[in-house]
Amino acid sequence: MVLKIKFRALLTLAGDSIENGELTIDDGRVVAISTSSTGGVDVLDLSDCLLMPGFVNAHCHLSLTALKKKLTPAVPFIDWLQTLIPLNANLDDSRRLEGIHAGADQMKRSGVTALGDYIADPELLGVIGGLGFRSVLFLETLGFNSAGAQSLCNKVEAVLQETPPSSLSRWGLAPHAPYSVSPDLFRCLRQLAQKYQCPLSCHVAEIQEEVAFLNEGNHELQELLKERSVWDAQWQTPRKTPVQYLNSLDALNSLIAIHCNFVSADLGLMAEKKVSAVFCPQSTSWFGRNEFMPVREMLDLGITVALGTDSLASNDSLNFLEELRAADKLLPDVSRSEILNMATRLGGEALGLQSGHLACGQNADLIGFRVSPSYSGSWWDVPFEPDRREVDFYMVDGKPDALSSC
Ligand SMILES: [Zn+2]
Repeated sequence: MVLKIKFRALLTLAGDSIENGELTIDDGRVVAISTSSTGGVDVLDLSDCLLMPGFVNAHCHLSLTALKKKLTPAVPFIDWLQTLIPLNANLDDSRRLEGIHAGADQMKRSGVTALGDYIADPELLGVIGGLGFRSVLFLETLGFNSAGAQSLCNKVEAVLQETPPSSLSRWGLAPHAPYSVSPDLFRCLRQLAQKYQCPLSCHVAEIQEEVAFLNEGNHELQELLKERSVWDAQWQTPRKTPVQYLNSLDALNSLIAIHCNFVSADLGLMAEKKVSAVFCPQSTSWFGRNEFMPVREMLDLGITVALGTDSLASNDSLNFLEELRAADKLLPDVSRSEILNMATRLGGEALGLQSGHLACGQNADLIGFRVSPSYSGSWWDVPFEPDRREVDFYMVDGKPDALSSC
């Protein structure tokens, strides 16, 4: 069914902004963008709204939403991890599900239409895949002991074979981090990703301890792995940076790398291997990091940098508008139009989803912000206005959601 939407302004993220025009959608896709309105009775009148592509939250763990405010900010990462593991293991199923739905609702209300979510429990794939986001469901896998690599990989492959994704979802694979996944498991998951054409994602260079662990053997992480009974006595310290280590395992090509706080020496290699990076502004602030992803340098090198919320175990909110404003504060050398690019078009590129910009043939995933008739500022500033908590129009796959109020 053809739907026409009249707008005050449109940020396509694929070209210049357009004012007082009309967007035509057919069968879930954009089929025309015009600079004037044809009118007619079947036109949805959003002539008091700025329209733009929906936001792409490129990294989240929705299954941890129920841990909101259960952990203390700015503690050392390994202490945080040691608190998180039992809290997560003991979380009641009904509270976990409530958290997932509450987190999804907050993301939608703040304009997220596409999502990359790490999911450790395959039982939750159907729940998260059915939330209505266009999504990549990353099967998160941990296993530092090489002896278990093949059996873990077989389990992951069984999920890929036996569980069909929903109509809006596709699979991804996510070895958790270089300090929690064995070299054999990395290689095996990389091969599965190639076989099943899945994107591969990993937390990379998030903490200084990880850098030290891979370069010189770090006592704290080694102790943690021993405490968890997953230490591998055969482990050889690779004496490489996290990025170089992943490259040595053939796991770097087209990787979606989360955090990348300590990668300054490897930016050329990341660009060469077409790595995408996901910056999580509020999580970065939550941990009180002084050193974090060199976003300006990465954008200048042509590296795709997307935005993510991470989980509510290391963030107090999944409101994506707050994430934009946090990025604006943390990145004084990155413009608002670049931040909106990261939040939309680059997020779509990173996840390999046809989402994040509006052009003919693209999926009609879009959001709207009501603006005053006298508004004369830059359209790029509208989503950053401090009082905005929610979007006023929301559409995924050409279907307006009940959140719509414009
Ligand atoms: Zn994460």
